[in-house]
Amino acid sequence: MLSDIEIANAAVLRPIRDVAAETLGIEERHLVPYGHHKAKVDLGYLASLADRPLGRLVLVTALSPTPPGEGKTTTTVGLTDALHGLGHRVVACLREPSMGPVFGMKGGAAGGGYSQVVPMTDINLHFTGDFAAIAAANNLLSALIDNHVHHGNELDIDVRSVSWKRVLDTNDRALRHVVVALGGTGNGYPREDGFDIVVASELMAIFCLTESWADLKRRIGDIVIGYSRSGTPITARELGAAGAMAALLRDALAPNLVQTLEGAPAFVHGGPFANIAHGCSSVAATRAGLRLADYVVTEAGFGADLGAEKFVDIKCRKWGLRPDVAVVVATVRALKYHGGVALADLGTEDVAAVEAGMANLRRHLDNIREVYGIPCVVAVNRFPTDTDREIATVVELVDECGVAAYPATHFADGGVGAQDLAKGVLQVLDEPSPYEFSYTYPDDLSLAEKVEAIATRLYGAGHVTWQAKARRRLQRIERDGYGDLPVCIAKTQYSFSTDPTLVGAPTGHELHVREVRLSAGAGFVVVVCGDMMTMPGLPSDPAAARIDLADDGTILGLS
Ligand code: ADP
Ligand code: MG
Repeated sequence: MLSDIEIANAAVLRPIRDVAAETLGIEERHLVPYGHHKAKVDLGYLASLADRPLGRLVLVTALSPTPPGEGKTTTTVGLTDALHGLGHRVVACLREPSMGPVFGMKGGAAGGGYSQVVPMTDINLHFTGDFAAIAAANNLLSALIDNHVHHGNELDIDVRSVSWKRVLDTNDRALRHVVVALGGTGNGYPREDGFDIVVASELMAIFCLTESWADLKRRIGDIVIGYSRSGTPITARELGAAGAMAALLRDALAPNLVQTLEGAPAFVHGGPFANIAHGCSSVAATRAGLRLADYVVTEAGFGADLGAEKFVDIKCRKWGLRPDVAVVVATVRALKYHGGVALADLGTEDVAAVEAGMANLRRHLDNIREVYGIPCVVAVNRFPTDTDREIATVVELVDECGVAAYPATHFADGGVGAQDLAKGVLQVLDEPSPYEFSYTYPDDLSLAEKVEAIATRLYGAGHVTWQAKARRRLQRIERDGYGDLPVCIAKTQYSFSTDPTLVGAPTGHELHVREVRLSAGAGFVVVVCGDMMTMPGLPSDPAAARIDLADDGTILGLS
């Protein structure tokens, strides 16, 4: 089979204005074209659709993944193509890839095989400039903070407490901790600072949780950058930063429209991390999709304990959204991994390990139905090494849970490979849901109780413990009036616990909270459990070493 980029480079793309008109009924005058194959959809036009009936929301999530990923993005695209192929009006909503992983470990993030969004190289590199705009706005605030201190520090900012960091969309471990303003009195007051990757910034989360310029500016104003020496929170608004930052983001806020290899429409917009942020593409795109199409297929990051939880408890709670069905991506290799097989041996048939690993998938299916109250189906994303016996075992065991499982070969075959899955999804949508949609916890619990609810109800944890510093920080955040915010748990995606090696469905484990951070603009409190990387490094053999530009201008080597 050809590589992802070979398939993408060989694709014949349709003009985006034709895709927009024919698939979503958007007239050309409502598009802001970025070349012939990418366009932003005008925000004013989208606001004018407010009274339209909403389509159905399909949330693609997964069991706890293995490091290479189980194919949520690929399945989101494949399912969209399948629904499109069956004649339905459907749009995919995906995250914009960060260039950090593109040059690092993961390669591209625009789907895979014959289930990709295109133009693939554009989407993976720069795209429509949204991330550059977010970086510029983020770093403007950093500059304004240091400038404020330099010119007399009227707000009495305690420079040791500034938590707002500079950002860059490159994996660069050398910038994790830096000292700024060295070189003498003309350069300001030296202080410790650091760089995060753009997708880990609070501004990225804000960008993805709003759909209007007014709300964007208000949320930016609410950002707490640090504290005064007397301990009061200092906001971006007080620094006079909100208007200029919002201005830098004006164009970026409109969702980006592209197409799948099969000509279905896809919004690719925004891309927050799924650990210290909520990990889903923009609300602007989701809401636009729900007004423009009958079905929106969207992906939440990581497994259903993290991405789907945040989709429900942060994004849905804020915007009154409700997934009508969850598609849980499972792979034979991940099930074997949870059944105790080492990463290097996942290509060998092992039905017993598949059976043992079902404990992980089963817990996710229970959580989705019983805690979130969303009906679900399982997409068994078929890999070349999977055997028929292993696939049949998954289908049978999922069936025993009262959920239908559909083997899908969209990676190899495009949309037709996911038609059974699409029909299964439509069938669930046609029936009344036997579950009642619900958040994991109500707004009025204390922040600590919210963490406990997630830990015990979803993760199977026995109890939550707190580093003293984290506990004090939590109390301060509540004292400052942010106690009614939802929490955003940052932990490993590889386990229900905070130990990435604890596979399967562990119970009784301890959830230890190491750190607590306030994201007042985004509207959540980040609860850090375990190690967490907000500026990744490059691996010893980075993907950048294989990416190339041919003499004719073709980009090569993006996987
Ligand atoms: P996720 O969104 O869950 O992280 P992706 O859809 O990005 O996962 O897929 C992860 C990687 O696995 C990608 O490189 C993708 O091309 C590859 N992949 C996905 N599905 C298959 C499949 N069925 N067979 C082979 N490779 C696949
Ligand atoms: Mg993905």
